[in-house]
Amino acid sequence: MKTETIAIHSGNIILSATGDVTPAISLSTTFTRNEEGGYTGGHMYSRVSNPNRNALETVLAALEKGEEACAFSSGNTAGMTLFQALDPGSHIIAPDDMYWGFKKQLQFIFKDTLTIDFIDLTDATAIEAHIKPNTVMIWVETPSNPLLKITDLTAISAICKKHQLMLACDSTFASPCLQNPIALGADVVMHSTTKYIGGHSDVLGGALITAKKDAFWEKIRNIQQIGGAVSAPFDCFLLLRSIKTLAYRMRGHCANGMALAQFLEKHPQVEAVYYPGLPSHPQHEIAKQQMSDFGGMLSILVKGGAEEASKVVNKVELFAQATSLGGVESLIEHRASVEGPDTKTPQNLIRISAGLEHIDDLIADLDQALRAS
Ligand code: PLP
Repeated sequence: MKTETIAIHSGNIILSATGDVTPAISLSTTFTRNEEGGYTGGHMYSRVSNPNRNALETVLAALEKGEEACAFSSGNTAGMTLFQALDPGSHIIAPDDMYWGFKKQLQFIFKDTLTIDFIDLTDATAIEAHIKPNTVMIWVETPSNPLLKITDLTAISAICKKHQLMLACDSTFASPCLQNPIALGADVVMHSTTKYIGGHSDVLGGALITAKKDAFWEKIRNIQQIGGAVSAPFDCFLLLRSIKTLAYRMRGHCANGMALAQFLEKHPQVEAVYYPGLPSHPQHEIAKQQMSDFGGMLSILVKGGAEEASKVVNKVELFAQATSLGGVESLIEHRASVEGPDTKTPQNLIRISAGLEHIDDLIADLDQALRAS
């Protein structure tokens, strides 16, 4: 089945006898045992499993072409669960440009248990020099946040196979519609489902999807069930509902992202545009190979510094000045001030999440804000 069909049917697991076309929300925290001591509906306690979470995990695994998925209460929890499952003393390789929340987790929460080399993963030839006897995993984020760097998943997967390392990929910016890292050799895929998968800026969630149900995956499932940072039934319901339109929303995000990038690349107030769909992007050819389209995320460098960039984000009228991404409404942010004083993000960088408004209105709004800056 194709993505659009999987998205509508794979998680549509109906348990009620009332002929529902879409699953009901199952709020019960506990489930009755039968005389033999079993659980007729297959669920015992909602921290361990729940019908709505089961449905969400089913569709996420199918969309990412994995064997199984775990749904969590946030993207940060999903990533943290993966890091927790690594043996203490492990070394991992991570990108120099990555979602700052995970960088903070690795630098602060895991500082006594893991060692990390943050390197430029776009240069696959430089990676092997960083592999140590205790290296266990390469963590990739592609496209990356906020510089939209593209990492060649097939090339990194070959390095991982040669050195028996795990390959994990934060694929949040791509969504399962634009790239499937497991098909390119990844062992685990991570999504902040808060973003494109949720798509309406009204639900927080995260997910891990595995290529294989191996011993490492069992550890992840245990941390999910015993740690308990699970996605709540209503959140799972919202995500399931959103997934049904994901492929169609992604087409709009990609079209608007591309049109904004093309417009901004020619704008006199703009110094640089980072968007993998532009031929000027340094990894455009890799993006063309591993992605079916280029997404709705882009960053620009405004001519000037922090002051000029701040003026633009304050002057827009249609774009909401807010962090996050992937919702139907366009967002804009001065990224360095979100990340804090120790950030390496350029002070004149603005990150844009192209929403689903009409492109003419988005362009007109950005144009007036840039001209006023
Ligand atoms: N990964 C990426 C690329 C993100 O942009 C974010 C959030 O901004 C996360 C992970 C974390 O997700 P959440 O906010 O759902 O915890």
